[in-house]
Amino acid sequence: MIKSNTNYIANSFSHIYIENSVFDFPITQYIIDRFPRSKIVRIENYNEVFSRKNQNPYLQKLSPSLIVGEKKEGFFYKGSRLCHNFEEEHFYYTNFILNCLFDCDYCYLKGMNLSSNIVFFVNLNDYFNEIARLLNTKNKLYLSISYDSDILIFDEIYPFLNEWYNFVEKNPKITVEIRTKSVLWKKFIKYKSLDNLILSWSLAPSDIIVQYEKKTPSLEARLNAISQLLKRDWKINLALDPLIYTGKPWKIIYKEFLEYLVTKIDINLINSITVGVFRIPINYLRRMKSFSNSPISFFPYETVEGVASYPKDLKEEMLNYVVLFLERYFNRDKIYIK
Ligand code: SF4
Repeated sequence: MIKSNTNYIANSFSHIYIENSVFDFPITQYIIDRFPRSKIVRIENYNEVFSRKNQNPYLQKLSPSLIVGEKKEGFFYKGSRLCHNFEEEHFYYTNFILNCLFDCDYCYLKGMNLSSNIVFFVNLNDYFNEIARLLNTKNKLYLSISYDSDILIFDEIYPFLNEWYNFVEKNPKITVEIRTKSVLWKKFIKYKSLDNLILSWSLAPSDIIVQYEKKTPSLEARLNAISQLLKRDWKINLALDPLIYTGKPWKIIYKEFLEYLVTKIDINLINSITVGVFRIPINYLRRMKSFSNSPISFFPYETVEGVASYPKDLKEEMLNYVVLFLERYFNRDKIYIK
């Protein structure tokens, strides 16, 4: 069953921690007004709550708190070597929201962050000013704004989409990518599609969604969202990433998935496709193992240069299988592999 946004959010945020420096911001008051029953706690620095020691990010997923703060530095970062960079020279990401209400077993956030509480940095104008300064030194910039969260689900309580849309529309040198598993396509109806605003949908076989992508919308619902926006000329990427090894039936599972995919959407209208197997920094994986009993945490991965992933032969077999299928329907030059 697909839960609405409202359901996700209503079950969360019994406590809202707010940094003093942003307490009087109109956007902070707007957020507080959305949660009349929550206990409001003023704090000096978001790390007092977010980075407290001895937290269990897996337990916190059941009922996360919200932290509202001000980003003071680090408004953008160079893209990680583990991410697809679309062969873009200036590939960056930014995070004005930390953590996510979906609950994927493979999510690196539970290995990276000390808590699963959600953080909103509400000084978006500082982000835009800093990114505009970076833009002055580059011809072109590719910026992902949703690597450390699935941000769209939060837009109704922290309305950032309109701000980003206006920024992207005014700055043709930047291309912004929003990655999601949500099905909130109706949010985009009121906007004109932009050449430099890409929506990227993470897709996986239904068996994997049910088993490992808890609380996320079904494959069918995601494909419907994509179809609706393709009809409205939005630029859409597909992220078949991470591919997950499910034991012997994995080829059957992925074959059914890929066949379903190409019948449900007009794949020729897709902008690009990224494909990658599960991979994660080994220190994040170690931390995940101390809390989780998911088979994804305990697969006998190989570690190369600090990154754990499937053994080389299996990785190649999985990538080849998926890419060979896609090539039959889609331009190989627009498939990016990790
Ligand atoms: S949707 Fe993305 S950010 Fe959210 S839990 Fe899943 S992998 Fe993590």
